[in-house]
Amino acid sequence: MVQSCANVASVSAIRKKRIAVIPGDGIGKEVIPQAVRVIEAAGAAVELTSFDWGADRYLADKVTVPPDGFATLARDFDAVLVGAFGDPRVPSNIHAREILLGMRRQMDLFANVRPVRLLDPALCPLKGIEPKDLDFVVIRENTEGVYGDLGGVFKQGTPDEVAIQEDVNTRKGVERIIRYAFDYCASNRKLDGSPRRRVLMCDKSNAMTHAGGLWQRVFKEVAVDHPQIETQHMYVDALATQMVRDPRGFDVIVTNNMFGDIITDLAAGLQGGLGMAASGNLRPGHTSMFEPVHGSAPPIAGRNIANPFGAILTAAMMLAHLGMTGEAQKIEAAVLEAVRQKKTTADIGGTLGTREAGEWVARAIATS
Ligand code: ATP
Repeated sequence: MVQSCANVASVSAIRKKRIAVIPGDGIGKEVIPQAVRVIEAAGAAVELTSFDWGADRYLADKVTVPPDGFATLARDFDAVLVGAFGDPRVPSNIHAREILLGMRRQMDLFANVRPVRLLDPALCPLKGIEPKDLDFVVIRENTEGVYGDLGGVFKQGTPDEVAIQEDVNTRKGVERIIRYAFDYCASNRKLDGSPRRRVLMCDKSNAMTHAGGLWQRVFKEVAVDHPQIETQHMYVDALATQMVRDPRGFDVIVTNNMFGDIITDLAAGLQGGLGMAASGNLRPGHTSMFEPVHGSAPPIAGRNIANPFGAILTAAMMLAHLGMTGEAQKIEAAVLEAVRQKKTTADIGGTLGTREAGEWVARAIATS
């Protein structure tokens, strides 16, 4: 009996992780192949399966997500690597909404985790900020808030038109994201090896009293279970000011869906722009999805100029999540070296194209 259990454990330990790859639209189709190339160069034990969900597929057959699409991802894959969705040929962006928001909601990927790290001082628009000063993570609630499309308009097109957009905050949703943030703080270290110490909750409870009140109460309740973790609160407007005045000292920030969306784009600006930012959409114990923070960026799509490093760092984040920390570290080290040597796309000061930057990183890994 003991013998057979050991066998089962060793078989599952060597099973390749199954990754669904969905490049999507626009620059997603350019940066994801570079992320895949780098995953392969790192020798990660993965089995990659490509999906054609996106605008081309939608325009061809009007399918956004096949009927069993999300169930297949959740059942047959360990993780999903996504590029971006959004295409001017689909002005409603219905496919983007159904795929991306659908994945977050149907697979209940409630925690959007966005690490904010500075690889090189030259990438930060603020003076005097070093990599050691910028190493925080934003944990954004990913399934509720104002993104549920609840509300409506009436008297449309008249001078009396009314538009209502509801902000949904459930105790279950608020509590699980705040608990996730405290657990993340307790179990993750900074890049320099020092422990994470503080969770900051960001809201606008002085104006949005009902939703903010719930977040405030739950934050205080959950904090009691983590006496070793410091707590802090900031209104989102004050936090935005602080982030551009002096971002040193941020550690773990937890916030709602909309504020998380906004402050992580601001934070991406501190680390070199949207092309450098990685994210994961997580549900512990279940299939999670990883995507660069940027969108499909139609103005620069198809020109081989998009920065692939956000997607490549996203792939590293995914591998680390799947337990392949050695491979993830190799990838991060190669991207760091590329940035130091300016083997990058033009948005962060280099002269390489998307493909060439990906190729440089893959070669650096292969020869490391
Ligand atoms: P979404 O709403 O889907 O997040 P968005 O309209 O906010 O998308 P993006 O598509 O992410 O924004 O891009 C906005 C701009 O940022 C682009 O037009 C481009 O100039 C720049 N950008 C985004 N991603 C990259 C990248 N990977 N490399 C270089 N520039 C980028």
